[in-house]
Amino acid sequence: MSDDPVEPQGVPDPIDATNGATAVVGDGEIDDAGAAEAERPPGQDVVLAVDIGGTKFAAGLVTARGELIDRARVDVPRDALPEQHWDNLLGICRQQMERARSRHNVRVRAIGVGSAGPVTRDVETVSPINIAAWRDFPLRKRLDDSFARPVYGDLDAKALALAEGWLGAAQGHANFCALTVSTGVGGGVILDGELLDGNTGNAGHIGHIIVEPGGRRCECGARGCLEAEASGLAIEAITGRPPTEPTYEIMQRTGRLVGRASATVCNALDLSLVVVGGSVALGFAATFFHAAQLELDDHAKTPYSRGARITPSRLGDSGPLIGAGAAGWRGVRRARRGAGRSRPTPSGSMDT
Ligand SMILES: [Zn+2]
Repeated sequence: MSDDPVEPQGVPDPIDATNGATAVVGDGEIDDAGAAEAERPPGQDVVLAVDIGGTKFAAGLVTARGELIDRARVDVPRDALPEQHWDNLLGICRQQMERARSRHNVRVRAIGVGSAGPVTRDVETVSPINIAAWRDFPLRKRLDDSFARPVYGDLDAKALALAEGWLGAAQGHANFCALTVSTGVGGGVILDGELLDGNTGNAGHIGHIIVEPGGRRCECGARGCLEAEASGLAIEAITGRPPTEPTYEIMQRTGRLVGRASATVCNALDLSLVVVGGSVALGFAATFFHAAQLELDDHAKTPYSRGARITPSRLGDSGPLIGAGAAGWRGVRRARRGAGRSRPTPSGSMDT
């Protein structure tokens, strides 16, 4: 199964994450940034980008050059029912579709999704670990039924890998790993310019590399997985404090463990670049990255992995939406190339 990387279309513009930016908070209260509208050709195509996180949903409009021209978000209440979550998501998606037409004069070509896992191929169903009410939620069909656009999607960390290679810290690199350290820990690997999928689409799930043998029990059943030791949920369980109120020690330890897992990946896959995003890693900032780099230096000793770098995502809080947009644009290009010939996929639904 070949997977195409997202190729930049012309010279990418700087990410525009503020023009026309809108934040929808709580019960649909709209906080309009009211920024001036950017000049862009009328009728331009965009992808509706949808980010399914553990604590928030976001939607935005991403051009073929990776500009994020509008965005909205809504918090995910902990105890909502499945249909309440869907209504919240539908609300911000409808608002973005409406603004594509009325404010930006652009055409929504497809929908791209980046979702917290587990998911099935092309987000046919999603079961984000932190959204208890969504288990095998049929996201792809719901979006398709509501908006009549092709839907392409992937795990959030794999989507971030596409985005970092397209416009971020790994731009121009054909081999690297992207990691998200937030509520959970996820990853995506670009090897020889292609995003790895694996048997079930979970290739690169670095969250289940063992970093502490005999350590905390992981959701997967093993002990000492990176996710069970370094995710936001794990940090909260270990310290009794939210990851937004870390101690210096926990920032260092989390960095160390991420560096250790990164060394394993670099050694196994012949990589020399690891890009890390996610609210926990980016929030822990220099303390985290310094500890991660030292640990990586200590454990990446092969001739090809020595000197490997670990570096923060350059896309900041736009990364997830740019990633979802990248997954959408990749689907559009594959469909264009696949038109007229059969390209079966495990889900049978990649190239609609
Ligand atoms: Zn695990």
